[in-house]
Amino acid sequence: MEGKKLIEVRNLSKHFHKKQVLKDISLDINKGDVVCLIGPSGSGKSTFLRCLNRLEEANSGEILFEGTDICKKDVNIDLHRQKMGMVFQQFNLFPHMTVLKNLIIAPMKLQGVDEESATEYAMSLLEKVGLADRANEYPSKLSGGQQQRVAIVRALCMKPDVMLFDEPTSALDPEMVGEVLTVMKDLAQQKMTMVVVTHEMGFAREVANRVVFLDEGEFVEENAPEEFFTNPKNERLKTFLSKVL
Ligand code: ADP
Ligand code: MG
Repeated sequence: MEGKKLIEVRNLSKHFHKKQVLKDISLDINKGDVVCLIGPSGSGKSTFLRCLNRLEEANSGEILFEGTDICKKDVNIDLHRQKMGMVFQQFNLFPHMTVLKNLIIAPMKLQGVDEESATEYAMSLLEKVGLADRANEYPSKLSGGQQQRVAIVRALCMKPDVMLFDEPTSALDPEMVGEVLTVMKDLAQQKMTMVVVTHEMGFAREVANRVVFLDEGEFVEENAPEEFFTNPKNERLKTFLSKVL
């Protein structure tokens, strides 16, 4: 299945009031891709990611997800959304639920999984990220890095076909960035399809198979990481890289 198109974005535009934030942009995401999306603050990265699962409604264009145009009004977006895990900068765990409850609530409520199976699966994933012993804690007892690992596991508990990450390490203390990137790298090695907005150029270079530069609402350049970072073509990308590398 690798290499098959999972998401096809066609001529997507998004305005906020009079400002056009995404300008008629197109991108294909194939099964097994790890696409890193980089670009200056305000360039539209979060908006793009949020349009992919319709947390934002695009003004025009198509988003084919597994062959269905999910921008159409009559699609059951909840069903498609379950197949797209999302991880935010702020971990957004439910503060009044234990770690385990955070993990099993959606599979039970939305997918009809029984508690025992949901728990078993959640515990197996917690084990993999080294947090099985924290299952009965509340999120506030965990460090930022631990909370973000739980947030990733929570998304994985829905068995998504793609994982969307919006700057998952930007809110973390520097010493906790590595543990989260390691989990993401493991996921990539397991061939999870991932779209990752990040400022972690080392991660993009090492883990992504494609790097895309978004500037002022347009995809300006895309390449394999080595070429992208060592031989950028576009002037705006060159300027951006000179500031961040
Ligand atoms: P990035 O994630 O690349 O920093 P965003 O997608 O968050 O960029 O924002 C792109 C542009 O859209 C910015 O100018 C931002 O101010 C604007 N924007 C984002 N969300 C909204 C909103 N809900 N209402 C109005 N403007 C918004
Ligand atoms: Mg953003």
